[in-house]
Amino acid sequence: MAVTERTLVLIKPDGIQRGLVGEITQRFERKGLKLIGMKMMSLDEAVLREHYAHIADKPFFPGVSKFMQSSPVVALCLEGLDVVDTVRRITGITKAREAEAGSIRGDFAMSVSCNVIHASDSVENAEKEVKRFFNPDDIYDYDKSEYLHVYGDDER
Ligand code: ADP
Repeated sequence: MAVTERTLVLIKPDGIQRGLVGEITQRFERKGLKLIGMKMMSLDEAVLREHYAHIADKPFFPGVSKFMQSSPVVALCLEGLDVVDTVRRITGITKAREAEAGSIRGDFAMSVSCNVIHASDSVENAEKEVKRFFNPDDIYDYDKSEYLHVYGDDER
């Protein structure tokens, strides 16, 4: 079993404004996930329309787009075994005030729109989203010594 699955997290403008970049990143690191890309960037309407194509025709999309452009975001690329599902569980459900305590949205947010982070929702979308926000040169391939203690021999 090789640990090659990747996912995308965006720390949204509310996470930036509320000083949660370190806390959020630390939660993923402590879980044992490998940080292979990290980048601050401003998003424009075009990339948001592509990224949020599934909600682009909803009445709340203009508000989401304005919010997502209100400050830079921080993009993380994380690698791990079943990392897409793992990160979605750590993220919590969309409506943050009902998200499970212990999840990032459950612990840090109250809103449906300002819910601190985005996380890819399937392996297929994760592959597209990592490519959308990271150039190949922005992704780092290195050995993580911690893996000896994070995974069993049959999982690594
Ligand atoms: P998730 O981010 O949990 O995968 P969706 O893909 O359904 O959720 O929606 C994308 C983002 O759009 C949400 O994270 C949230 O910021 C915003 N959003 C979703 N539904 C609403 C809503 N009803 N009102 C306002 N914003 C919303």
